[in-house]
Amino acid sequence: MTTPTSRPEPKRLFIKTYGCQMNVYDSERMRDVLRPLGYQPVDGPETADLVVLNTCHIREKATEKVYSELGQIKKMKEASGGKMTIAVAGCVAQAEGAEIMRRQPAVDLVLGPQAYHKLPEMVARASRAAGDRLETEFETLEKFDALPKQREADGPAAFLSVQEGCDKFCTFCVVPYTRGAELSRPVDDIVIEARSLAAQGVRDISLLGQNVNAWHGAAPKLEGGGEWGLGQLARHLSKIGGIDRIRYTTSHPRDMDDDLIAAHGEVPELMPFLHLPVQSGSDRILKAMNRGHTAEHYLDIMRRMRDARPDMALASDFIVGFPGESDQDFEDTMNLVREVGYAIAYSFKYSPRPGTPAADMFGHVPEEVKDERLQQLQTLLKQQQTEFNASKVGETLPVLVTGKGKMPGQAHGRSPWMQAVHFDAPESLVGQIVDVKIVGSTMSSLTGEYAHVVEAA
Ligand code: SAM
Ligand code: SF4
Repeated sequence: MTTPTSRPEPKRLFIKTYGCQMNVYDSERMRDVLRPLGYQPVDGPETADLVVLNTCHIREKATEKVYSELGQIKKMKEASGGKMTIAVAGCVAQAEGAEIMRRQPAVDLVLGPQAYHKLPEMVARASRAAGDRLETEFETLEKFDALPKQREADGPAAFLSVQEGCDKFCTFCVVPYTRGAELSRPVDDIVIEARSLAAQGVRDISLLGQNVNAWHGAAPKLEGGGEWGLGQLARHLSKIGGIDRIRYTTSHPRDMDDDLIAAHGEVPELMPFLHLPVQSGSDRILKAMNRGHTAEHYLDIMRRMRDARPDMALASDFIVGFPGESDQDFEDTMNLVREVGYAIAYSFKYSPRPGTPAADMFGHVPEEVKDERLQQLQTLLKQQQTEFNASKVGETLPVLVTGKGKMPGQAHGRSPWMQAVHFDAPESLVGQIVDVKIVGSTMSSLTGEYAHVVEAA
């Protein structure tokens, strides 16, 4: 089930502790939270990759000692070619903050005692800024690691990877540490690959990324010029002959900009189906998750999406039993689900990932409570999924024929909302978009009767 990521040379960590027992305890905690990022303690600062001075503010003299120590460490940083990261933690950091950076510019990070849970994030960011990539000991759970690699088209629907990495640092998630910073693939590369897929008969393209709607790219030579976001990219890709359907996954509510929402109203090729994970319906929990959005912000996006494209259906991810989640917080999630009405959703019990800030939070929810909440949530989501599929019965839908069925004369395909559709049709129709009258539904698929091929626009 789990596969450890490759384990390179460990990084060297030196923590110097000043002052009281509390600081000794905090230094231990810092060692613990940095271990999953590959940091091993060493005895001196000379060759360390990361030096932390965990300071004490009790006397003026103690503060001056810190500045004098920083002067020495700065020389070591210079000798390392700038590779060393210097962090100042503890009470001096709390009291003097920006002043430390001003007096000693070699310092990369300053964090007060309330911010230790943010240390992995801050170190990962500093290491990215130095052009380095942290190699971590985080295990990669396969289900969270499903970004397929680019491949030859092997059917009329294909993935196209446009974005990797994550800068969001949700407190439960290992991705920002394992996948590195958000990175957008250049427009020209994407267009070349999309054209090549179209030439191979691909008609339904799913643009992929951990935070796909954070994608942006300079397109000076293309129409409109300047910097594009995902909406503009979709407009451009929709003009490639043969590409009839464009999707993108997975999106983050923080990156859902006006232009992308507007594009859904303008570009018929942009499919009316959006996977927009919300994780929780409680603002308190969303804050603790560091999601950077509220439930209302999410609901507002949903409403604007449905204004732009009334047949828009939503998918989401949920986590139940995040540390501190009360019955009321969980009820807020259930209410949000009732308000949105999902076409499909993925829900997980919170699972602590050592080294992520949430793993160290108070208020871990007992396993049996998580089980109970997950069951309740999944019952509601399954009901909504079943109802969504049933709502299509009696309609005639354009279905992309993706392959032949198990028995001769059977085919299967995909609706605009990613529903699997089974119907009788000749194999020669694979790769075509055909009208199918929907006559039956279950929670996971639709059955229909083939009517005729839809003329290309
Ligand atoms: N970037 C996407 C986003 O923000 O929604 C999704 C990426 S994540 C790899 C896929 C899903 O795994 C998340 O949306 C979340 O619901 C779930 N997940 C991640 N870490 C988890 C954890 N520690 N425990 C339970 N579920 C987790
Ligand atoms: Fe990034 Fe998504 Fe993980 Fe949040 S859940 S840190 S947005 S990958």
